[in-house]
Amino acid sequence: MTTAETARLVTLIASICPSTHMEETTETTAKNWHPLLADLDAADAHEAVIRLGRRRHHIAAVDIRDEVRAIREERLARDPLPLPDADPDDPRRYRAELLAIVTAIASGQRVERAPTSPAPPPHAPADRSRNDLRVRALRVPCPWCKAAPGHPCTVPRLGIPLKNAPAHASRLTAADPP
Ligand SMILES: [Zn+2]
Repeated sequence: MTTAETARLVTLIASICPSTHMEETTETTAKNWHPLLADLDAADAHEAVIRLGRRRHHIAAVDIRDEVRAIREERLARDPLPLPDADPDDPRRYRAELLAIVTAIASGQRVERAPTSPAPPPHAPADRSRNDLRVRALRVPCPWCKAAPGHPCTVPRLGIPLKNAPAHASRLTAADPP
């Protein structure tokens, strides 16, 4: 998010949640809030504030971060994960592309690739490569959803196992640093 986007968000919060404590000017508040929100996607943060505004009287920066995380998890849980185009026999490229796809879907982008076939032939190379990634990822704890080694990644709050992605992107990276 840019400083201007944070300023717009702070104005929105001040308007929909009058009970949220804001400094004398929204300009000061935007300056104070920006370091807490700068790494978030502006569209995600906006959606988070709208969702929070429907059920709360008070919105803090940490609430926005939690809500953005939930929004991104829900997208990953909802959308079928397309297979990378890269050759599964080239695990580095395949993994890099898979990470890019997971990140894009979490951001709400449409990934224009053939979706995963509902009934892939058994032992298809792509399937095998994806399964290898999952097996390796399961050896380490997930820094994102805190799943313990040996336990699959879950969607926080919903608590259901991640079905489409083999594991969260940060866990794939932790299991196999680039
Ligand atoms: Zn995880």
